[in-house]
Amino acid sequence: MSKHFLVILVALSLCGCVTIPKRVTLPLPPKAKFVEVSKFCKKNGLTYSYNTLDDVVELTSKDKNIRLLLNSLLVYYNGRFFRLKNSPFYREGRIFIPQELEDIILKKIPKIFVPLAIKRIVIDPGHGGKDPGAISPGGIKEKDINLRIAKLLKRELEKKGFIVYLTRKKDIYLSLQKRVEIAKDRRADLFISIHANSNRNCRVNGVEIYYLSPKYFNWKKRLLWLSNYLPPDLRGAYSRHQREIIWRNICAKNDAISRQAAHCLVAIFRELGFKVSYPKGAPFYVLKYGYVPSILVEVGYLSNSREERLLKNPRYQHQIACAIALGVSSLNRQYPRLVKRYGNR
Ligand SMILES: [Zn+2]
Repeated sequence: MSKHFLVILVALSLCGCVTIPKRVTLPLPPKAKFVEVSKFCKKNGLTYSYNTLDDVVELTSKDKNIRLLLNSLLVYYNGRFFRLKNSPFYREGRIFIPQELEDIILKKIPKIFVPLAIKRIVIDPGHGGKDPGAISPGGIKEKDINLRIAKLLKRELEKKGFIVYLTRKKDIYLSLQKRVEIAKDRRADLFISIHANSNRNCRVNGVEIYYLSPKYFNWKKRLLWLSNYLPPDLRGAYSRHQREIIWRNICAKNDAISRQAAHCLVAIFRELGFKVSYPKGAPFYVLKYGYVPSILVEVGYLSNSREERLLKNPRYQHQIACAIALGVSSLNRQYPRLVKRYGNR
């Protein structure tokens, strides 16, 4: 492998257009441990009910009230919110609960997750200007597809009442650093980077959604950046140790919202009939160095002839934009769904 080729590979993996040789099959994430809901209840002295209307699974006993949402990482337990690493799901008539829920009810995990409503969103159409991104066999440039979908997405999100900004409105080059800084400067609650994928294997296809994951955090570099993150009048007020704690809290919150957002998007894409992989953490620059909750959506493979044809179709571009917008707004709906009490109980 030549040095030049290596550089290209690294550059591709940083920009988000990495080729993924193995596809993850749905719906179990690797190494995750799940248990069927009735077994979980028997072991922990609980009874359960499932509301098919809003996908809420409720587990109760004398002193416990637990509510879970299918395909969501949120858990509502005795009036407080907690976060799971894996979401409960429904398959072949059965509900599966992540085993880790036991740690929460046995109080091994005291971490509370306070969900925030998403209001301000920065959409980042990947590539642009001198950087075309992936190019399809028919000559379609990824940067153009990304921009068109980003503009449609902006319109859809604005219809739903979100405040939306684009990192670029036209075909210009922007560094990756500049993109994450725009999200920070706009005080975004969520950063959505739009990309289209490519793979040497032309049969590979489907939508993929990536989230910012602490697995890839560069703590040292991020800590250095924190001095710029804090308002100037507060910078001297914190010791290095205190700054580290602040930054770790910011990262934990960003991580929780990023994962949650990715899961919401996957659930909506799946509901709408798209082929979509289980959400994954990835070391893409815009996720690794994001200051705010961030996800990256690979809208399809330009290297696949069917998806190449679809991706240049304005109607399909609109469908993708609608799916993302629905996913984002479902994130805001999850919170009240778990808090509310249903009529006849
Ligand atoms: Zn890309």
